[in-house]
Amino acid sequence: MRRQSVHARALVVRSYDFGEADRVIVLLTREFGIVRGVAKGVRRAKSRFGSRLEPFVELSVQLYQGKSLSTITQADTVEFFGAELIDDLARYAAGCAVLEGVEKLAYEGAESAALYDLAVGALKALRASEMPKLHVASFLLRAMAVTGWEPSLYQCAQCGAEGPHHAFHPHAGGAVCVMCRPAGTREVDPEALHIMWLLLQGADQAAAALVTPTRLAQVEKMVRDHLHWHSERRMLSLNVLDQA
Ligand SMILES: [Zn+2]
Repeated sequence: MRRQSVHARALVVRSYDFGEADRVIVLLTREFGIVRGVAKGVRRAKSRFGSRLEPFVELSVQLYQGKSLSTITQADTVEFFGAELIDDLARYAAGCAVLEGVEKLAYEGAESAALYDLAVGALKALRASEMPKLHVASFLLRAMAVTGWEPSLYQCAQCGAEGPHHAFHPHAGGAVCVMCRPAGTREVDPEALHIMWLLLQGADQAAAALVTPTRLAQVEKMVRDHLHWHSERRMLSLNVLDQA
């Protein structure tokens, strides 16, 4: 079968050494979701790719598509988000959390324009963010919404009873009422759920106005737990498919 050469807009998520002189670059592409692309000879001094294929770089790439690995034949920098992020530890950590979230949420081989635009928008916003942790939560919630894992934040995820509720359980699907909460459900400040609801609507400023250190810590934990629980479920179902 002849391999196809395609063009894509791509964000470098992660990279690792491969063979003697190559690197595998994990890309989120707008057109094909996650792509693992080999950059041949990139670790040699006179590589034409140079340092372009590093995390936080947005690229215009040419790819030869392969079954599990593609080959990157050309890469031009569109934008580098790292310069401003690397100077500020909190923003840098937030940028890394955005890229980790991307890798957990994106699918291979599926058009991913909505997720791609959210990720690029989040990295742009982080460069000048005074509340990087809130920006990460905002990105992850909206990214979960466009990939089908949106938590219920006002209505009970189980019975639909209207909130505000003061408990959250990823397994149940989000906020849960007193009647539906599974054993071991954590109590949270209803305003922490309110902040998450506002972030999902894109009302970041209104959300920021409600933030206290305790609420922000609860928001971070709920978002992380929800993302973690759902990506574990997906890994399990992908493994089952692999074995079929
Ligand atoms: Zn309920």
